[in-house]
Amino acid sequence: GDKGRCVRLSAERARALLADVDTLLFDCDGVLWRGETAVPGAPEVLTALRARGKRLGFVTNNSSKTRQAYADKLRRLGFGGPDAPDARPEVFGTAYCAALYLRRHLASAPAPKAYVLGSAALAAELQAVGVAAVGVGPEPLPGDGPAAWLSAPLEPDVRAVVVGFDPHFSYAKLTKAVRYLQQPGCLLVGTNMDNRLPLENGGFVAGTGCLVRAVEMAAQRQADIIGKPSRFIFDCVSQEYGIDPERTVMVGDRLDTDILLGVTCGLKTILTLTGVSTLGDVKNNQESDCLSKKKMVPDFYVDSIADLLPALQG
Ligand code: PLP
Ligand code: CA
Repeated sequence: GDKGRCVRLSAERARALLADVDTLLFDCDGVLWRGETAVPGAPEVLTALRARGKRLGFVTNNSSKTRQAYADKLRRLGFGGPDAPDARPEVFGTAYCAALYLRRHLASAPAPKAYVLGSAALAAELQAVGVAAVGVGPEPLPGDGPAAWLSAPLEPDVRAVVVGFDPHFSYAKLTKAVRYLQQPGCLLVGTNMDNRLPLENGGFVAGTGCLVRAVEMAAQRQADIIGKPSRFIFDCVSQEYGIDPERTVMVGDRLDTDILLGVTCGLKTILTLTGVSTLGDVKNNQESDCLSKKKMVPDFYVDSIADLLPALQG
């Protein structure tokens, strides 16, 4: 078949593909929207998919929004949402999924805390599962040298260091994170390893992966990663949805996160060209001798998910 061949998804092929699937998982930034602007035609595609009875899920590496904030953004940009008030939430972000991870791994601790290098949204998702978040916001370096830095007070009962997107990341926070990580049993969790965060205007800023790497390097240990391409985030979706991988599509704009996740988890994969990765990147991976790069090739590609619309009409 077309497995891993990166075939353009014509209307005819799309019709056949959609007949074989019941769940579509979408990456958010670069697929549904860029920043605050919906990809033209994308809301109509989601509406048509819902009308066809397809189940939709949204899987994002962004750790700086709560599940509720994502639901609000989807509605604000015209993507709708489940109608029933008791419907399952559809968004799986790394803030929410990091909370699921800590709930599972800190279940035996009576009043666990996490030192959070991240946003208030990440802290809120942790609090919602009973993990108190400390450290959010800017932190000044105490005193004027290493001896003073090492005597800054630590909170008791910190059982995990969680690293997400943190515009206040600093040497003071890095130092504190490493001190917590030296305590026995303290977990190190990274929300995602995206190297860069693309901006709407074509520029970029350093991504969360840079911050996770800094902590890993100083602590001399590896973080457990929540987001794509880690299987953990798919397991979160799978547990709430009950997913048949064979009847599920992953749609994304990044080969090293979205498409690799899909391939790893046995899903059908579609690359959309409205975001980070290009057909040139696909070609490089296809021609690479590196086995892990060879995996980063989608089954299909579209210029935009709006290209699915003809297959959903008539
Ligand atoms: N991380 C941060 C902090 C972001 O703001 C974004 C996109 O806005 C991402 C990661 C990537 O998100 P996605 O997985 O939806 O492309
Ligand atoms: Ca994306």
